[in-house]
Amino acid sequence: MDSALTHLECPECGKQFDADLAQTFCEDCKSPLEARYDLDKARLSLDLKTVSARPRGLWRWAEILPVRLEKHRLTLGEGDTPLLPAARLGKASDFKNLYIKDESANPTASFKARGLVMAVAKAIELGIKEFVIPTAGNAGGALAAYAARAKAAAHVFMPKDAPLANQLEVKAFGADLVLVDGLISDAGKLAAEESKKHGWFDVSTFKEPYRLEGKKTMGLELAGQFNWNLPDVIFYPTGGGTGLVGMWKAFDELEKMGWINSKRPRMVSVQAEGCAPIVRAFEQGSERAEFWNGGETIAAGLRVPGPFADRQILRAIRQSKGAAMAVSDAEIVIAQKEIASNEGIFACPEGAAAWAALKKMQKQGWVKPEEQIVLFNTGSGLKYLCFSSKHTG
Ligand SMILES: *Cc1c(COP(=O)(O)O)cnc(C)c1O
Ligand SMILES: [Zn+2]
Repeated sequence: MDSALTHLECPECGKQFDADLAQTFCEDCKSPLEARYDLDKARLSLDLKTVSARPRGLWRWAEILPVRLEKHRLTLGEGDTPLLPAARLGKASDFKNLYIKDESANPTASFKARGLVMAVAKAIELGIKEFVIPTAGNAGGALAAYAARAKAAAHVFMPKDAPLANQLEVKAFGADLVLVDGLISDAGKLAAEESKKHGWFDVSTFKEPYRLEGKKTMGLELAGQFNWNLPDVIFYPTGGGTGLVGMWKAFDELEKMGWINSKRPRMVSVQAEGCAPIVRAFEQGSERAEFWNGGETIAAGLRVPGPFADRQILRAIRQSKGAAMAVSDAEIVIAQKEIASNEGIFACPEGAAAWAALKKMQKQGWVKPEEQIVLFNTGSGLKYLCFSSKHTG
């Protein structure tokens, strides 16, 4: 189970970077870096039978993940989450093949675990011992958990009105919590300064290359759960966009290894009306998303006014012939109740937004009743029961 990682590459200018040194992003393009693998080598030991026989979890895909040594493959049991048919929800709205990929089953009850396990494991392999992260909430909790697991130090910068559960879990895991008067973008500025000052490693979304690799495993799993024939449409609640870009990358790598054909799902980026930079850019036909002023929504994970990977997100949506759709907080609250009462899944507001967006796209005739549709529930609703201020009520 050797990693077939060869190097890192800037998707904008093509410049290559050494993957055995700690890297951040391409300074020239202000673009995230993408990990590249020798896929011909990977496929020699990575075949369907082998992958199925390995223990559950995302390390089953070790050949196309960046960590080289087995002893560095940190785990809290992340990945291999269920793909649940949502038959009742579907029937009520005339969808015959509706599914929910339920990411709330991950450690720390959100899919942020996938990205952070990878970023922390790889950084530790490269000798890093102290981390800093700006977060809307869940990423901070996940970093704190994996840092505790790996005996590393973590500094978490979080908006002071982030969900209380996120603040409490960070403290419980023994990390240093700094509450910020502002949004994740403000927390990001502070984290960058502290990173420079103290030499802490900044694991902000897309500012290092490996959270993307962890999130990529959602696409690998989904392909397997659909028997190597991808679904027609994916609804993905988008903040920083790691999952959307990650799945798109996963599909590409799977095709290059001969696991799937060239059919791709239409990727729908779902955002909240109070913070929808990607939706606005998509509608305007822009390559880049402009900063969104005053981001405000109960879906804390979607409060990302200036996603660093805007180019990659918009490219993936357009290449997939997908779309971008914003929903209101009121629509999210209704959607959350519908999912819970029909399917027994208490979705997070971000996951509920995906269902709300599907209903809107249906009204526009954009999805057909018989299409295979996957909604991503990215975390548990339980983490949002208490906001520390502002959102109470
Ligand atoms: C962070 C987060 C999102 C957004 O994920 P990205 O990959 O950053 O777009 C969605 N839902 C939840 C619950 C989150 O914590
Ligand atoms: Zn570049």
